[in-house]
Amino acid sequence: MCKAILGSPQSPVDIQAKEIHQRIITIDTHVDAPMYFGYGADIGKTNPVMKVDPNTVGMTDKPGNTPYLLKVDIPQMIKGQLDAAVMVAYLHQEARTKAASQEAVKKADAILNKLTKQIQQHSDIVGQARNSDDIRRLKKEGKKAIVLGIENGYAIGKDLKNVQKYADKGVAYITLSHNGDNDICDAAVRSKQEHNGLSEFGRQVVREMNRCGIIVDVSHTSEKTALDVVELSAVPVIASHSACKGLCDHPRNISDRAMKAIADKGGVIQVCFYEYFVKKNGKATLKDAVNHIDYIVKKVGIDHVGIGTDMDGGTELPDMQNATDYPKITVELLKRGYSEEDIAKIWGGNFLRVWDAVQKAKK
Ligand SMILES: [Zn+2]
Repeated sequence: MCKAILGSPQSPVDIQAKEIHQRIITIDTHVDAPMYFGYGADIGKTNPVMKVDPNTVGMTDKPGNTPYLLKVDIPQMIKGQLDAAVMVAYLHQEARTKAASQEAVKKADAILNKLTKQIQQHSDIVGQARNSDDIRRLKKEGKKAIVLGIENGYAIGKDLKNVQKYADKGVAYITLSHNGDNDICDAAVRSKQEHNGLSEFGRQVVREMNRCGIIVDVSHTSEKTALDVVELSAVPVIASHSACKGLCDHPRNISDRAMKAIADKGGVIQVCFYEYFVKKNGKATLKDAVNHIDYIVKKVGIDHVGIGTDMDGGTELPDMQNATDYPKITVELLKRGYSEEDIAKIWGGNFLRVWDAVQKAKK
């Protein structure tokens, strides 16, 4: 018999992982697939190879010479038994003049509208989830769920009214900054520490996000910003895609202090699988990424950890190339002794608990 026809043999733990994925809700809370819309990417289809310039993806749609295959789309989510993905409208931090800020708002709107349109065009296999019940319902219907997110509060521009507008579109979270300070707060990298954490406008933004039921995301922000946000927010906050500084000393990673503050308020840290964030020296693998899950569990407990890979935002590990590989994370967790109940919390239960709490508290 030919192995290529049969596929690779499955061990008992592989089969166990697949069965667990059928029973639990799995959600990746940070996917950047919309960055590739300008190259023709369609999340509802198997995409052809695109030609991109990796240095300018998300900043311009000018094609480059590097072949790129989208890592998360519905066909790959089906193969990888991923129920839901938060797909974000990413904004590169540009100038903060009034005109540039208005452009940022327009760009975010355009990306979110395009994402919503693609979801509608493929309504036989996918739906937009505006809350955790939608995700569960879609799973029962045999469909995948896409949740809208925004990466960089630059998308709010200088007008607080945009927060309610994004809530109305179904945006689950807004990452307050990207790389570089903005009007809201100081960032983790490319920062001049100009606000010493959250600015006065940033404080208004956090309060408004609380009021509108949008989760505040502190990934990419400075430690001081994260601590300010946790103190101010009336509801739990998240880091949608962050690895741990205590394991890998990178400025983008989350400190033990910020991690504890987030957990103390009931929030969750969703582990980013980006190679340079998970391992300092040498080639990172899936095991190195899962070490960060272990680390968070050890420091703050099983109720405060999740998965936000940053696929299509630069994440690619030799043994986790795209969404079809996600059951391998579950296999690794099983091998490390995690129970199905633990795995359900990590793969979505914890994030959904926070999302429910934030939506319940909206006014
Ligand atoms: Zn990011």
